[in-house]
Amino acid sequence: MLSDDSSVRSATDCALPYPQTVVAGGYRATKKYATAAGVCGFFVSVPDAGAIENIMVMLASLASRIQSRAEEIYPDMLALRREIHRHPELSYEEFRTTLLVRDYLVGLGIEPEPPFLETGVVALLRGKGDGTRKRRLVALRADIDALPVSEENSHGFCSLEPGKMHACGHDMHTAMLLGAAKLLTEFRDELQGDVLLIFQPAEEKAPGGARPLIEAGLFERFCPQAIFGQHCFPSVEAGKVALSGGSFMAATDELYIAVNGRGGHASAPHKAADPVLAAAHIITAVQHLVSRVAPPHEPAVVSIASIHGGNAPNVIPSTVTMSGTMRTMNESLRARLKERLRETVAGTASALGVNAELEIRTGYPALINDHAMTDEAEGYCIEYLGKQNVKESEPLMTAEDFAYYLQQVPGTFWQIGTGDGQAEQRGNTLHASTFDPDEKVLAQGAGLLAYTALRFFM
Ligand SMILES: [Zn+2]
Ligand SMILES: [Zn+2]
Repeated sequence: MLSDDSSVRSATDCALPYPQTVVAGGYRATKKYATAAGVCGFFVSVPDAGAIENIMVMLASLASRIQSRAEEIYPDMLALRREIHRHPELSYEEFRTTLLVRDYLVGLGIEPEPPFLETGVVALLRGKGDGTRKRRLVALRADIDALPVSEENSHGFCSLEPGKMHACGHDMHTAMLLGAAKLLTEFRDELQGDVLLIFQPAEEKAPGGARPLIEAGLFERFCPQAIFGQHCFPSVEAGKVALSGGSFMAATDELYIAVNGRGGHASAPHKAADPVLAAAHIITAVQHLVSRVAPPHEPAVVSIASIHGGNAPNVIPSTVTMSGTMRTMNESLRARLKERLRETVAGTASALGVNAELEIRTGYPALINDHAMTDEAEGYCIEYLGKQNVKESEPLMTAEDFAYYLQQVPGTFWQIGTGDGQAEQRGNTLHASTFDPDEKVLAQGAGLLAYTALRFFM
């Protein structure tokens, strides 16, 4: 530990939660220069038009130089992405991917930190600093795991691992963060702080990799002032990003229901206690919770997605099992829905003469983007991609364990488009066996991450 180095701190210096302060900026996003109010907000005295013009020119030059270099290193990222894609590894098993990431970083002269977990890599990329003893730190995160999906694409770099596929784009995320690391080493002289690179394992499977990483002391050793991450989205066109402050992704809980009755001959249902009929009523009843418990302005989902029971047309089974998911955007509604689910499942079963057990497995919390950091990132995106390529995102009912980082460090998570406007109609969706993101996004995503880190310290 370096005593004069404030980006790596002792646990006592780094008590959680961090204050939600915005530390970026002598000057900020381009859009804010447009109004006198915006300008006044970030300068002690109002800068003259010439000073603003100079800053704009400098930022445009930085963005342009990163874009050019990102295009030049695109073949590297393409090779990395395809190598990772051919060898997908499920959550907590990303040993090969971990080695690949480590080797690439070492090749850049970045020494990975001692491992926090069995898989995944955390590394500190040193910037030049701003000449003061107080260093600053920003974190960038990619996830590295794959899904239990059998790939059905026909391109030349399909998964070589049966039943495993990078169907959520984490191969793209990993390659883009490695590309960003390469760019940042090359722009180190302009990097006025340090960058924490987090290659996180096990995003796809609860409890996820983020929480164990934090519990293993990530934010006791490192105190980033902000954290940023991005996720491929085929519903957004390649070349564009979408982001929004506040509630961005849902809290997720898994539902497991076992309906236990008394089996019998299907011709004599009065002598049985039919769990099939009860299961049908339970499915109908729990759907009503969203419309009658959740306020109309609060997003919520309850879906029963699997049902199993019986195996003959003339036999009433004794048991039916179901599973599903619940998605919410705030903790009080989440708790209320859980309570009502238990009452509804038990009450409906009881009314139909059977017994039902509900198990709720708690998943990730809602992902809440910090408003100030989202404004920062939106400005960087506009500067790097152009205003026409940055749009407001709707809240999404998918879940992401990036949520855990945001409970500790202000930051934001955005969608990076990998589609062509028709992707979803063709089955090119996240988690599909035919997910096939536009690889040209690799250069853009890496460049944007690098620009975000550089820009954060300005
Ligand atoms: Zn996923
Ligand atoms: Zn994902």
